[in-house]
Amino acid sequence: MIVLEMKAVVKPSQCAAIDDAIRTVQFIRNKALRLWMNAKREDRIDKYSLNKYCALLAKEFKFADELNSTARQASAERAWSAISRFYDNCKKGVKRKKVRNAAGYPKFQKNNRSVEYKHSGWKLSENRKKITFTDKKNIGTLKLKGTRDLNFYPLDQIKRVRIVRRADGYYVQFCINLDVREYAKPLEPSKKCVGLDVGLKIFYADSDGEMVETPKYYRQAEKRLNRLNRKKSKKFKGGQPQSNNYKKARKRYARKHLRVSRQRKGFVQREALRVIRSNDLVVYEDLNVKGMAKNSKLAKSINDAAWSIFRGWLEYFGYKYGKVIVAVAPHNTSQDCSSCGEKVPKSLSTRTHVCSHCGYAEDRDVNAAINILKKGLSTVGHTGTHAWGEIPSGLAGYVLPN
Ligand SMILES: [Zn+2]
Repeated sequence: MIVLEMKAVVKPSQCAAIDDAIRTVQFIRNKALRLWMNAKREDRIDKYSLNKYCALLAKEFKFADELNSTARQASAERAWSAISRFYDNCKKGVKRKKVRNAAGYPKFQKNNRSVEYKHSGWKLSENRKKITFTDKKNIGTLKLKGTRDLNFYPLDQIKRVRIVRRADGYYVQFCINLDVREYAKPLEPSKKCVGLDVGLKIFYADSDGEMVETPKYYRQAEKRLNRLNRKKSKKFKGGQPQSNNYKKARKRYARKHLRVSRQRKGFVQREALRVIRSNDLVVYEDLNVKGMAKNSKLAKSINDAAWSIFRGWLEYFGYKYGKVIVAVAPHNTSQDCSSCGEKVPKSLSTRTHVCSHCGYAEDRDVNAAINILKKGLSTVGHTGTHAWGEIPSGLAGYVLPN
């Protein structure tokens, strides 16, 4: 499944209609959740009872009836996925100290930003540059901007259509069911393999000694963002929180935030594609969240979030272009000498690896990257954790590069 996203050209009257649809989605989701919360065990509330409940809501509320029936269902499914996630966590026995509601008891949604249709309620124009929403929400026809060509994909494989509201406008997403491998131009084998180590100071180091910096704009933009955030907070006066100045400041902050996060995603995506293009085998550490959380400094680093997204893209592109991706257990990769294999203990602040046994000296992260590559080559390793060919859940909604 891939997600294509295009910006929509929206008239003011259409904004109101879309917002109304988005509000209705939230209403149905929360109503369904309430039904589950209030139910007794013998009621046996499941996915299907929530679906049936949608029809009841449509009879009772005019605005719910106006929304396409598949969009109503998709709203109830959102409630169900929150509920089933909670059940799963309970089954797995997720209990963490200090974390309230660790199992994730479902919450009512307040800031929904999207509405999702399935196979009905929308129609693409002949040239597929426009989409018309045909339910009684009267959204009408939206022109689609962007370089993506929907003609490239079979229409019956478009499984879902979503309208998403962002700080700078509305976007239409198409969830298309296809195997990306079939659409990929094969790459020439590079005859190279590489190990990657995520750095604290740098984005990553590879086993060839190359170090990729986290772009400076991260930090610069972050500073600017914080300033805007403070300005926003200053405008927030008790008693009249929704003043015009506050609203303006909030909008400015949201736009800037969106731009920064787009830059970040773009960087991570480009890097992943570059690594996959120039290597046939890529090895990285199987860093889990638990291990990360142990080191609070590490957890706070902005690299963390970027890294898990980076990894997701590595796996995605790896699948797409038929490259091998291996995740190895992250033990001792920074402590062992990559030349002789002896253990050379060092603290986090020691930036250079100098082996007292064989005399080998190398940057700390590069030494680790070589160890990671060796591990990947010597052990069977287990392949990436995400389902092959699926966009990792955290990446859904991102614009796919070619
Ligand atoms: Zn050594």
